[in-house]
Amino acid sequence: MKQDRTKGLDGLFRPRSVAVIGASRRAGSIGRQVVANLIRGGFTGPVYPVNPKAEVVLSVPAYRSVAAIPSPVDLAVLVVPPDAVLKVAQECGKKGVKGLVVITAGFREIGGEGIVREEKLAAISKRHGMRVIGPNCMGIVNAEAGVALDASFSATLPQPGAVAMVSQSGALGEAILADAAQAGLGVAMFASVGNRVDVTAADLLAYWENDPQVRVILLYLETVGEPLEFVEVARRVSRKKPIIAVKSGRSDAGALAASSHTGSVAGADVAADTMLAQCGVLRVDNFRDMFALAQALLDQPLPKGPRMAVVTNAGGPGILATDALAGLGMEVVPLLPATERVLRKVLPVEASVRNPVDLIASADAARYRAALGPVVADETVQGIVVLFVSPVMIDAAAVALAIVDQTRGCGRPVLACVMGRQRGDEAQRILRDAGIPVFRYPEDAATTLRQMLRRTRWLERRPQRVPNLRVDRDVARKILRKKGRVSGWLSSAETEVVLAAYGIAFPASRRVHTPGEAVAAAHELGWPVVLKAEAASLLHKSEHRAVRVGLKHGDEVFAAAADLIERLKPAFTDLRLQVQAQAQGHREVLIGMTRDVRYGPLFAAGLGGVQVEVMRDVSIRVGPLDGKDPHEMFERLKGAPLLAAFRGAPAADVAAACDALLRIQQLVVDFPEIAEVEVNPFILAEKGKRSVAVDGRMRVEQA
Ligand code: ADP
Ligand code: MG
Repeated sequence: MKQDRTKGLDGLFRPRSVAVIGASRRAGSIGRQVVANLIRGGFTGPVYPVNPKAEVVLSVPAYRSVAAIPSPVDLAVLVVPPDAVLKVAQECGKKGVKGLVVITAGFREIGGEGIVREEKLAAISKRHGMRVIGPNCMGIVNAEAGVALDASFSATLPQPGAVAMVSQSGALGEAILADAAQAGLGVAMFASVGNRVDVTAADLLAYWENDPQVRVILLYLETVGEPLEFVEVARRVSRKKPIIAVKSGRSDAGALAASSHTGSVAGADVAADTMLAQCGVLRVDNFRDMFALAQALLDQPLPKGPRMAVVTNAGGPGILATDALAGLGMEVVPLLPATERVLRKVLPVEASVRNPVDLIASADAARYRAALGPVVADETVQGIVVLFVSPVMIDAAAVALAIVDQTRGCGRPVLACVMGRQRGDEAQRILRDAGIPVFRYPEDAATTLRQMLRRTRWLERRPQRVPNLRVDRDVARKILRKKGRVSGWLSSAETEVVLAAYGIAFPASRRVHTPGEAVAAAHELGWPVVLKAEAASLLHKSEHRAVRVGLKHGDEVFAAAADLIERLKPAFTDLRLQVQAQAQGHREVLIGMTRDVRYGPLFAAGLGGVQVEVMRDVSIRVGPLDGKDPHEMFERLKGAPLLAAFRGAPAADVAAACDALLRIQQLVVDFPEIAEVEVNPFILAEKGKRSVAVDGRMRVEQA
C-alpha cells in the first residue's frame, strides 16, 4: 500500500507553471486544444508550449524542449506520440517537473510493447519523484480561484463549484463535464485518470478528503484497480463527504463462477456492488441520477428517517410517487391527526388530507402555501416531495415561490417534481435557484431520496470490532499444510477438524465402513442419529439420497447403511459412512466464503439447507467484516422473518451463526490458500441451546 498517497499531488493540481509538450498549431489537434484550454480557463501561472518546429503556439512563444524553458516547470502535459513519451518524461524528470499528465495513448491498453512502455514510465516517474496522471487520459481541471487550471482537451469549460470528479474513461470524461455543466453542477476539480500508472481514484479521494472546496465526490469507474486500498480510503472519506459512483462493467470475478453453492448463488456484479456499499459509496445507475443526487446532497439536508410526505395537485402522480417511495423502502404514512385537522380546514372538501396530500387541480399558490404550512410543521415528516402538474390557469411561478417560502430552512429534504409544460420552465428555475432539486418524474425524486436515506444510515452506522476469537491455529495448520497437500477439496472429516479448531462446533460423529459398525457407532452416540454416505466426488449428498435423518434404533441404522452401500458403492469406490448425532436445532442457515480474484474474500450468509439453491436468498459482503456485518447480512435476507419467532417456534440463535462466520473470516485470513469454504447447513437452535454445523466443505488452492 502507498504510504502517502496525496504526496506531490499539489504539483499536479496546483502548479505554478505548466508546459504543454507536443503543443501544436494544427487546428483540431489535442496539442492545440490543451494550450487553448489553459488560456481559456485563465490559468494563473505561465504556460509554456513545447514544440521543436514552432516558434509560437496560439500567440504564446514556444520552446524546442522542456530543457530549453528558462524558468521552473511544475506540471508537464504530454501530448507527444507514444514512442516519444519515455524520452520526454526523462527530460521532465531532469528539469525538476513535479507532475505529469500523460494524455498520449498506446500503453497498457494496447498490450505487448504498450505494457512495457507503461512499466518504464512508472519507473522513470518514481526515480524522479514525479506524480503521474494517465497515460491515456483526458487531463485534469482545478477551478480553484487562485489556480484556474484546465489542463485537459475537454470542449466544455466547467463552471466552478463544489463537486470533484474522477473518470476512468477519457471519452466519457468529456461527456460528464458537458452533462454536469448542463445540469448546472459546478466543478471544483476533475481528473481523467486513464490507465492509472500512478495516481488512482483512491489517491484522489484522499486528496479531496480535507479540501474545503470539495463537498461531493463523483466517480466514474470501470474497474476498481486495487480494491483493498480503495475500500480503506473510501470508507474513511465517505464519513466526511458523500461519494457517488457510476460503476460500469461486470466484475471479472472468476471465483464467482466457482462450483460451490456460495459461488453459484452470488451474481457476477455482486462483488463490486457490495464493495461499494460497504465503504459508503452511493452507487447509482446512470449519470442523470448521479448529478441529481449530487445536487440534492449539496443543497438539501439528509432525511433523518424514511417517513415522507407527498403533496400534489394531481392524484395520479401522487400515487406514482407514493408507490415509488414505498417500493424503495420509504414510508408514506398518515400525518399526525392534528395536521390532518388543519389541512381539512384550509383545503376544499374534494381535496385529500391524507398523505399523499392531494390539493386537486384547482390548487394555486395560496393553496400550496396553506397546505405546506401544516405539513412542514408536522414533526413526524422526515422528507417532503412536492408535485406540481402545471395547469394552464395556474400561475406556476407563484406556486414555485410558495413552495420555496414554505419549506425554507425546514431542516428536512424537499424535492420537487414539475410536470407539464405550461410555464413549468420558470417554476423549475425558481425552485432550482432556491436549492430545491427538480425532477421530471416522481420516480426519480424517490430514487434520489432513497440514496439520501442510505447516506443517513451510513453515517449512523458505527463499525463494531470483531471480538477476540480463540482458535487453535496449529491443529488447522497440520491439516491444511500437511505434506503433499495439493489443490482441491479437503475430505469432510478434515474440513470438520479444521472448522472445529476454529471454534465451529459439529455434532459428535463416527466414520465407519459396514452396517454393523454403523449400528455400534449409533449406540455410542445416542439417539436419534443421521447417516450419511461420503466420498471424495460426492459433493451434494442429498442429490444421491445419501443422507438419512431421524434414525431411531439399530435396525433402521443397519438397513439404511446396507442400502447406501448397495446403491452407491459401485459408483463411489472410496465410499464410507458417517454416523452423526442429530442436531436439535430448528432452522438451517449457510455461511461461507469464496475468494474473488479482485476483491479478496467474499463472505456469504443465507438461508440454508438443501433448498438454498432454489431460494437464492444469500447476502454477500467483501472482507474485512466487522463485528456488525454478519448480523446485518442475516437481517437483510428476504427470509429473515423465518429466523425470528413465528407460529409458536422460538427465534433462532442467529448470533451463533454470526460468530461462526467471523471464525471463518479468521480462518481464511490465517490460511490464504483456502479458496472456498462453506458450512451448509449450520443448524440454529433457540438461544441458550447448542447450534452446530452438520455439513462443511473446503477447497484449497496452492500457489
Ligand atoms: P448435502 O448438503 O451434501 O446434501 P447435508 O449433510 O447438508 O448433505 O445434509 C442434508 C440435510 O440433512 C441438511 O440440510 C439437514 O436438513 C439434514 N441433516 C444433515 N445432518 C444432520 C444432522 N446431524 N442433524 C440434523 N439434520 C441433519
Ligand atoms: Mg449440506
